[in-house]
Amino acid sequence: MLSCKELVANSSDYLDKRLSMSRGLEVRLHLTLCVNCRRFIKQMKISQAVFRKMELQQDADLDGLAQKLAEAQRTNR
Ligand SMILES: [Zn+2]
Repeated sequence: MLSCKELVANSSDYLDKRLSMSRGLEVRLHLTLCVNCRRFIKQMKISQAVFRKMELQQDADLDGLAQKLAEAQRTNR
């Protein structure tokens, strides 16, 4: 069985579903038995979601910026 340390090392690949099937099963088995790692993965998921949201907002801001720049050029002409 995986140790908690190994689980942490595999956690980001697990969340991105990049683990092999056998490794993924080992991780899931560990998670069913280990409440600490369950909590850890939950936290990871939350922070990933927040991070993705931030990235999306940055993209939205970039779009807004590009639009403002285009408008500024139009009014300058
Ligand atoms: Zn554990």
